[in-house]
Amino acid sequence: MGYCKSIKCRLIALGVLLVIIGILVRLSAALPAVQKPVHDLMAAEQLSIATYVARDVDNRIQVRRALIHELAAMLPPALLEQPALLTSWLGERERLNPLFNRSLLVLAPDGHPLAEYSAMPGRKRSSYADLDWFAAALAANRTAPPLIGRPRRDDVDGAPILVVAAPVRDAGNRTRAVLAGIVTLDAKGFLDGLLQSRLGSSGGFLLISPADKLFVGSSDPAMVLQPTPAQGTNPLHDRAMAGYRGTGITVNAKGIEELSAMATVPGTGWFVVARTPTAEVFQPVTELRRIMVRNAFATMTGMILILLALLPRVLRPLTSAARSIREMAEGKRDLAPLPVTRQDEVGDLVLGFNHLVAKLHEKEQALMQTMQKLDQLAGTDTLTGAWNRRHFDEVVDRELDRSRRYGHALALIVLDLDRFKEINDRYGHVEGDRVLQEVASCMREALRKPDSLTRWGGEEFIVLMPDTGIASAAILAERLRSNIAARHIEGIGTVTASIGVAELGTSEQRNAWLARADAALYRAKQAGRNRVELADAAQGAGLTAHAH
Ligand code: GH3
Ligand code: MG
Ligand code: MG
Repeated sequence: MGYCKSIKCRLIALGVLLVIIGILVRLSAALPAVQKPVHDLMAAEQLSIATYVARDVDNRIQVRRALIHELAAMLPPALLEQPALLTSWLGERERLNPLFNRSLLVLAPDGHPLAEYSAMPGRKRSSYADLDWFAAALAANRTAPPLIGRPRRDDVDGAPILVVAAPVRDAGNRTRAVLAGIVTLDAKGFLDGLLQSRLGSSGGFLLISPADKLFVGSSDPAMVLQPTPAQGTNPLHDRAMAGYRGTGITVNAKGIEELSAMATVPGTGWFVVARTPTAEVFQPVTELRRIMVRNAFATMTGMILILLALLPRVLRPLTSAARSIREMAEGKRDLAPLPVTRQDEVGDLVLGFNHLVAKLHEKEQALMQTMQKLDQLAGTDTLTGAWNRRHFDEVVDRELDRSRRYGHALALIVLDLDRFKEINDRYGHVEGDRVLQEVASCMREALRKPDSLTRWGGEEFIVLMPDTGIASAAILAERLRSNIAARHIEGIGTVTASIGVAELGTSEQRNAWLARADAALYRAKQAGRNRVELADAAQGAGLTAHAH
């Protein structure tokens, strides 16, 4: 199936294969099963025909023998001296029972003819002493039935004839003459039936004398009185000559295979052969085979046409799904589930694909979340969860821009834990870290939503407060300070923080602003810690718009 890549092509090939297997099975199994009974039936039929014809031939010969027997017994020996009377006596008998169409003959013991009815014009034979049947008739004993001569051709016209002869005896049982009846084989009511009959459309009959090795009669006129084939020419013929009677298949002299049936003609030792070409005998089987093959081709053609018409329809959802998937892969359309139009294998495939799409979406979502988390981590201080300095740098510029563009206030708190070094020294760094976490969470609780908490470094935090003036910032700072101071930290107690607050001045630079907040923090430290200090007004015009 190297050249047959599509399912359509394969299904058609499969169909063709199944039909071929079907026809082969039928031809190899069913046909022989039919062939045998047909053969037996035809052979039996042929044999019964041969037997019937043989009996018929026998019957026709027996009546002629009976007639000659009777006439020989009836013939008054006195008539032998009177040829004219003898001839008319013969004529009377022949007219009454015309079984010998050629003539009735009375022959003297020396072989010369005494009388003949009807005299054959041209028959000049002066003696019959040389003929087989004459000698045999003379030699026959009293009880022997009349003799049958070897079939031969008439001297006068070459017509095939048969002679039946019997001796004529006087009261002293001396043979005084021989009575012979001559009949042509094709005489009406003799073998004409056998000679002219056909068996089927191309079969026929043979009448064979094995003793004389002669074809006595045949449906084929050319074979009449021809010698039978030499021994070894035809095995079935040889067997029949040797006495086999029954049926058999053989190839005749013309090379045609024939079914033959042999039956004996009892009174003569002859036998009848009924023969028919096997092609004709087995014609029903041949016809059956032809019908099977033709039928197979019709089935195959029909099946291919039906498949060609139906398969594209059956496979359409598959090809359209494949096209959609390819388009998705090439980015020509969005990756999305396909509609499930049918509850079959194609439907299963589409369901599978949809499941895959859903999984891909899930993975994509998870990846996005991971990336967001990574982004966040990059901007987050891992210890406290507050933003780190890098993130602050990004955010603060944006907020500065916004504040300048819309004239919104922007405030900043800088917070530093008091004497934190001592906590570290006393409880260790790990405990110190825990304090930092507690302080961050305490601050987060106090902050408003837009406020952002950044761990500036060490134990120093910055809170950026958008839309917030110095007054509000100062209140928030004070709240942070008191909340931290009030927070009890497990195992440590309380810590305090100092805070510097600064509002962004108009057109003030970031660093200057941060420095003012730092300075305020420094002052808070100086003033004794655990305090909030507001930054000095910014340098330049409109500096103290929101101060105090
Ligand atoms: P004050 O600010 O009140 O003047 O005194 P201080 O002891 O807090 O002084 P300073 O702010 O200069 O000291 C910072 C100390 O904070 C130094 C260091 O031991 C500690 N520190 C800085 N970063 C960390 C940190 O990540 N974890 C811990 N446990 N300690 C830190
Ligand atoms: Mg510090
Ligand atoms: Mg400190």
